[in-house]
Amino acid sequence: MESNENSGLSDFRKKRIKIFKRLIVGTMIFFITLPNLFCIFLLGLIYKTNENIKDINTQIVQLSQTEVEKIASTEKKSEAVNDTLVDNDFVFKVSSDKEEYENYTRIYLTFDDGPSQYTNELLDVLNKYGAKATFFVLAQDGYDEEYIRILNEGHTLGVHSYKHVYSDVYGSLEGFENDVNNICDFVEQKTQVRPVFYRFPGGSSNTIYKGDKNELFDYLDQKGLVYIDWNVASNDSTFGGLSKGQIANNVLKGIEGKSDAVILMHDANDKHSSIEALDIIFQSLQGRDDVVFLPITENSEIIQHVHKKTEE
Ligand SMILES: [Zn+2]
Repeated sequence: MESNENSGLSDFRKKRIKIFKRLIVGTMIFFITLPNLFCIFLLGLIYKTNENIKDINTQIVQLSQTEVEKIASTEKKSEAVNDTLVDNDFVFKVSSDKEEYENYTRIYLTFDDGPSQYTNELLDVLNKYGAKATFFVLAQDGYDEEYIRILNEGHTLGVHSYKHVYSDVYGSLEGFENDVNNICDFVEQKTQVRPVFYRFPGGSSNTIYKGDKNELFDYLDQKGLVYIDWNVASNDSTFGGLSKGQIANNVLKGIEGKSDAVILMHDANDKHSSIEALDIIFQSLQGRDDVVFLPITENSEIIQHVHKKTEE
């Protein structure tokens, strides 16, 4: 009975130990497998993330390519827009021969007070449209190339004043003579060309000179200089400044009904709007094949506000 009880007990123990062993083995297997499973899960995750990154990369490449294409196509578009604005086949005809353009509106753009920081840009715009103009310059330091470029590109280089100081120019006859000589010498020294066209500071009708204005006209005559005024004012030097649209409008209105339009504009460091206006003027007249932009020459109609008074 006792041994039966004993054997029953050891059986029970054995069973418990077995269960215990299985439990340990099970736990061990569980704990060994779990990290492996976790690792497999992680590997899967990494693989998936890699795939995602690859996808994103391809998308980025595609996007940047379409961006590049977009930019390229907008550049093409803007080129196309410019092309429509600037008809490459169309340039304004140029000739100093007035008879050749008898039935044309002959426009003489004149720019006073230069050269300036914008002279090259101004010359570029004139070039772009095949237009010629006239510059009435001052003695400005640091613009040697601009004086020469004006002449080389077929424009007329006239003179305006040495330093544009009214009291120097109009204070006395001697002052006037010095001013004229100084600017002529200056230009001749820079370009090897003696100027023949002159524009009075303030125009020939200015009332600053208190002496007899005939003295001034006589002196210019003596020096072989022809003075040129204007019959269209762009008003680009109006105090406070006009917008490019207003300046262009003044010019476009001013040329209406004229066969010879001499336009007063400025080439100055504070007048970039004059160049912007010029672009509008050219674009507005581009379709007109009865318009020419000419440099002032001896063949041009000479516009003068005040003439020498002859005794009669
Ligand atoms: Zn001036």
